Amino acid sequence: MVTNYSILHDIPKLKIQKKKLLHAAKELDRILKGEKRPYRSNRFIRRITPKIHEEYEKKRTTSPFNVNDSCISCGICVKNCPVNAMEMGEIKPSWVMPKCDNCLHCLHHCPVDAINYGDSTQNRLRYTYESCFKEST
Ligand code: SF4
Ligand code: SF4
Repeated sequence: MVTNYSILHDIPKLKIQKKKLLHAAKELDRILKGEKRPYRSNRFIRRITPKIHEEYEKKRTTSPFNVNDSCISCGICVKNCPVNAMEMGEIKPSWVMPKCDNCLHCLHHCPVDAINYGDSTQNRLRYTYESCFKEST
């Protein structure tokens, strides 16, 4: 699948995004037909996952989120946040909870790429499933 966690790494280019999604659709089809077993993580991954999650719990915070001046006050980010971590101000949104789910829906769905997480996402692509397929039609 295409990962959207641009806080830690680059988002693949559109061509690669499409390739990955088409591959995922084919694999899912094979699994549903019983031709392939679903992915199951190995013992090493299962062992380190709780430790990674522990670190993630300590570090996830909304404080690095920021909104630049290209914000058009559309409110999409606030409306779609799954945990209501944001509120709309007079001009821009702000984060009202110290922690959120870090899903990055707000960042990737902003129509003008106004949201960033510190400096780490500044020059990184955005990704949404919908826009990936819209651009391919
Ligand atoms: S989605 Fe983007 S443009 Fe719309 S209010 Fe949020 S930050 Fe501003
Ligand atoms: S990253 Fe997700 S949970 Fe956090 S504020 Fe944005 S939409 Fe809400």
